[in-house]
Amino acid sequence: MEDDIFCVFSNLSFINHSCSPSAAWGCIGGSNKNMEVRAIIDIQPQTEITVNYIENQSFLLSTTQRKTLLSQVWEFTCTCNGCLADEKKEKGVLQISNQILERSRAALCKKDYELLWKLQKQKLRIVKTRTNLQQLSNTYQTLLVVSAALHLEKTEVEQLISEWKVECCDLEEYSKMFDDLTKSFDKGKPKEEKEFMDSGNLRNEWISLIYRKL
Ligand SMILES: [Zn+2]
Repeated sequence: MEDDIFCVFSNLSFINHSCSPSAAWGCIGGSNKNMEVRAIIDIQPQTEITVNYIENQSFLLSTTQRKTLLSQVWEFTCTCNGCLADEKKEKGVLQISNQILERSRAALCKKDYELLWKLQKQKLRIVKTRTNLQQLSNTYQTLLVVSAALHLEKTEVEQLISEWKVECCDLEEYSKMFDDLTKSFDKGKPKEEKEFMDSGNLRNEWISLIYRKL
């Protein structure tokens, strides 16, 4: 059977992998015995031609997942330009996230809820680009509690609640957390101010909840 044929392509097998390749390869003429390589970008003279060994899957994978697959199946660690650029970007995001965490803790200690709100909105923008639903849900909870201390426009808070619902409903533990917290709000305003506030500050139990969720 055609499918059982194994071939060695003595020239093509020299082509290295890149996650951002300059060429693509494939079988031609409906046969596994003939392969061709085509440039997919302008390739400058003296530059290495590369193909993506996992091109059918790599678009759906994160850098870490791609590298794991390549190392398990192909037994090498990818250090292509695409991976290096992604890692650099990832390091930058991690650095910003750590700064937000530190500044948010300090703002919470100083009871500077306005700053805390701004920092957590910034965090929300970052977390929305990731796939960590738990972290996203934590950020919505923090924002909602902080909103109770800020007397925000109720439309802004209502929007926050509906976004939380839409974006985190796939999270297993989401439903209880969502019900517990949103039942204290009515159309974007805390039902009972004193449930959240004590002498103009957030009550201690809310402060410790925020601390855990930051
Ligand atoms: Zn790579």
